[in-house]
Amino acid sequence: MLDTDFFRRWMTATAAAVDREAERLTALDSPIGDADHGSNLQRGFTAVVATLEKEAPGTPGTVLVLAGRQLISTVGGASGPLYGTLLRRTGKALGEAAEVGEEQFADALRAGVDAVMALGGAAPGDKTMVDALVPAVDALGDSFTAAGAAAEQGAEATTALQARKGRASYLGERSIGHQDPGATSSALLIAALLEAAE
Ligand code: ADP
Ligand code: MG
Ligand code: MG
Repeated sequence: MLDTDFFRRWMTATAAAVDREAERLTALDSPIGDADHGSNLQRGFTAVVATLEKEAPGTPGTVLVLAGRQLISTVGGASGPLYGTLLRRTGKALGEAAEVGEEQFADALRAGVDAVMALGGAAPGDKTMVDALVPAVDALGDSFTAAGAAAEQGAEATTALQARKGRASYLGERSIGHQDPGATSSALLIAALLEAAE
């Protein structure tokens, strides 16, 4: 079972990974974007960790709803509302339970990813965070390790794709040959699940 502390650790581990990788995320956002993805997420997840410390939410669902709300209000740019929606919708799908099973979490995260696709209009293959999140959710039924590997593989596979959503799509064919920054940060988010579980 996954308890409130697990979800808190998930957010803390994600914040630490974003801190570690901020320069790389911003560098990826340079050729096909506006070179702010690392700093956007760093600002957002720093605020998430601070809010979770201050408000001490008491259920898994409220941890994620609070985190999502914080991302929406602190991150300008496309990724804030999208990541915010991902976490908020996942949190809402968890309901008010004090602990959730792995399967219930996988279903909730799928609802979150569906909400990201509904909000941003991106489908798999459009070279966005969706390309890491969808394979991750598909593999989540097996294990966190499998989900992490699937997300990483999905992120790497965005290099060959042409962007059809977001800023990178303005480049048309010139977006090919660069890994998508949002898919890369999504792989960090999923990898942090394993850290939270340890
Ligand atoms: P901005 O492009 O506003 O500067 P960021 O640099 O923080 O925002 O985030 C860019 C990332 O957001 C992209 O790499 C992509 O993964 C993701 N993204 C952008 N638009 C969409 C969309 N419509 N649907 C899903 N993901 C998107
Ligand atoms: Mg950007
Ligand atoms: Mg920007």
